[in-house]
Amino acid sequence: MTKGDLLLGFMAEACHNAQSHVGDPDAWPSDEDNRQYLLQCTSFQVACFLAQNTVDGEQGVDWCVAIEQLTNNTRREHGMMVRSVKAWRGILRDLVEEYGGWNDDMLTPLAPPVKGKWQAVPDSKVRHVWKCENGDCPNGNPTAKVGPDFYQESGEPMCDSDCLTGMTYVRTEVRA
Ligand SMILES: [Zn+2]
Repeated sequence: MTKGDLLLGFMAEACHNAQSHVGDPDAWPSDEDNRQYLLQCTSFQVACFLAQNTVDGEQGVDWCVAIEQLTNNTRREHGMMVRSVKAWRGILRDLVEEYGGWNDDMLTPLAPPVKGKWQAVPDSKVRHVWKCENGDCPNGNPTAKVGPDFYQESGEPMCDSDCLTGMTYVRTEVRA
């Protein structure tokens, strides 16, 4: 589990609980303006959560990012018009994706690695080493150290302008 998974769970509970407290069975379906007023703070909270913890969120997140899901419901649960915690997890996960995914901090694992299990690590903790293997390299066959998304953005690293040779992958390094 990552820090992001844990905090998303807390936020899902917060949204569900806010709806539960506002969702009086009689008042809920009738007065949307009143519901908006009562649930504004919760939507602000979701916006701040996204702004602080997602890649694109730092560009700004509209405060009303979750107000519609907070105030409009079609399903009644336990006599109230609230979305389940599970539904909120889905909504928040979609919003995190929409804002470019978790930032590096949220990908930090909370527990020590379990043997044999794959786990997400922040890009900032991984780099790939490439090397020029051109036999006539005028630069003495240098290496390049690049991040995991380098290939997607730019293809294989190139040796400099005198050599212009595509480099060869050597190994991956993880920062402790
Ligand atoms: Zn070279």
